[in-house]
Amino acid sequence: MPCEQRMDKKIFQRMGNELAQTISEQFGTKNIVELCQIADISVRYERWNPVTLGEFDRKHSAICINLNAPIAPVDILAHELGHYFIFQKNIKLSRAEEEIVATTFAQYFQSSTDY
Ligand SMILES: [Zn+2]
Repeated sequence: MPCEQRMDKKIFQRMGNELAQTISEQFGTKNIVELCQIADISVRYERWNPVTLGEFDRKHSAICINLNAPIAPVDILAHELGHYFIFQKNIKLSRAEEEIVATTFAQYFQSSTDY
């Protein structure tokens, strides 16, 4: 039922957008690098293979960015930050749902970042 699936996706996209808005208002910035500093989130820049983009280390509450990934580190950071806040706010989602929320979360910051 493609119609229902599209509906579902919209719900999680809205969730990601609202989460991003709440977070940027809470920390008073739309710059994710600054946001990590204010929120005191540790970010590690490493290189590993095979190439995954980044990881959110729940155990240490740290975000790891793979510098081998063919995407700008700041874009990976925005996405992993989505996972971080979903985890922190204890929002229960399936893996697929969480990916939609994290991706939309990241888009909110990407569209408003001044380069
Ligand atoms: Zn993800």
